[in-house]
Amino acid sequence: MSEAANSTPFSAQVQSIRDYHGTLDTQNLSWRKDQLRALQKMLQENKSAFLDALYKDLRTNPTEGNLLQLSLVSSEITHALKHVGGWSKPEKVSTPLYMKPSSAQIVHEPLGTALIIGAWNYPLLLTLSPLVGCIAAGNAAIIKPSEMAPATSALLAEMLPRYLDKKAFQVIEGGIPETTDLLKEKFDTIFFTGSAPVGRIIMEAAAKNLTPVTLELGGQCPAIVDRSADLKLAALRIVFAKFSNAGQTCVAPNHVFVHKDVADEFTKILKQTITDFYSTDPQKSPDYGRIINQHHHTRIVALMKDQNIACGGKSDVDDLYIAPTVLTNVDPASPVMQEEIFGPVLPLVTVNDLSEAFNHISKNNHPLAAYVFAKDKKVIQRAEKITAGAVGINNAMLHLGVHDLPFGGVGGSGFGQYHGKAGFDLFSHAKPIFKGGSFEAGAHFPPHKEKGRIKKALLKIFL
Ligand code: NAD
Repeated sequence: MSEAANSTPFSAQVQSIRDYHGTLDTQNLSWRKDQLRALQKMLQENKSAFLDALYKDLRTNPTEGNLLQLSLVSSEITHALKHVGGWSKPEKVSTPLYMKPSSAQIVHEPLGTALIIGAWNYPLLLTLSPLVGCIAAGNAAIIKPSEMAPATSALLAEMLPRYLDKKAFQVIEGGIPETTDLLKEKFDTIFFTGSAPVGRIIMEAAAKNLTPVTLELGGQCPAIVDRSADLKLAALRIVFAKFSNAGQTCVAPNHVFVHKDVADEFTKILKQTITDFYSTDPQKSPDYGRIINQHHHTRIVALMKDQNIACGGKSDVDDLYIAPTVLTNVDPASPVMQEEIFGPVLPLVTVNDLSEAFNHISKNNHPLAAYVFAKDKKVIQRAEKITAGAVGINNAMLHLGVHDLPFGGVGGSGFGQYHGKAGFDLFSHAKPIFKGGSFEAGAHFPPHKEKGRIKKALLKIFL
């Protein structure tokens, strides 16, 4: 096929970015630091505009938007600025005796031109956080924010080119047709955050160019509340993680397994905590968000059907509102337990023994995170063995704010990790450079039959 037949409306744009990356300018450490500083400046100087956009897209409370999106990206940038010099340094590697004198090192080289496809649920955080590692490692990038959060997408498209080097970074807005076109272009790495079905489409398109991909997918993150748990603390942390952003958080607890001895008491404390956070009428609370669109609203409401509603349950499609809802005595076989809820509905499954919960978790797809609330050391030791993107003990969700903890899934929840150094490594190729010494013992050269004593002795070290 000719080049013209393969071209898309974005071919020239992508090629210009690739060409600029080819100049090696992006590998310059001071250029990378300048870009990181510029990204941080963009957030500082346009803070209220970004908070307004998040409010428009998801009715995100400004404090929550600042805490869970702007500040997180900004502190990630500060961390990268502090460490990027160290991360980028070539690492010396020792060489075997029989190869002396020689030297070996690992240099961290950018992968090249990245395509970053952002998600709608934290449209600022999940678009810019991967960009931090991408810039730190010296890549160029096309950034595709989610069209499902249009206000944030438009603002990113307006602001990023004003602050970042346009020769290396460009924003392309759009939905399925634009993403489909972009995926026909050749990138050196693709970073996608979203659902598994779209992840498969991304991976299939990437395979045509043998482009490596990172898939940050979802999964039904389980929580377990043991009878030894501090129930009040567990409720505070679970309610915060579950109902922030109206439950549209990839690392929110999807459901809770609660030990039968504390199920009633825990339900009571959960209900009280929800009221403490969002009042008796959460629809009027300035701290409570909205569902992204009607499609997801209808989907989430349907999941509550025929369930025992302990609190919440109210919905208003015109306002895209669903109350923070707790379902009790949920059957693990019921529809609400079969898919990721990604909304403000929290099923509680009462278990007679925690092994029921651990078995359920190990039989299903590996989640992006699993949370266990307990004081009992044996339970905690068992919890640490859960296969998941991350495990939180007496915590939910906040691991994503620890820069030095790699963030990402395993198995069904995706692959590839970022944040902090992991983000730098994800967008880098650890390239070995081996330099031969000026002296050559030649023990490995033929003819092998006619070697002298020294060569034979040296060869023995090889074999
Ligand atoms: P989604 O993942 O399906 O994303 C929709 C996006 O995909 C849109 O931008 C759309 O343009 C694009 N898209 C859809 N069909 C496409 C196609 N055929 N070709 C190319 N692009 C296409 O949206 P969703 O299901 O609402 O997202 C929710 C999921 O994302 C949940 O599973 C959640 O857990 C996951 N998620 C994961 C993380 C993480 O960090 N791991 C973060 C946020 C969300």
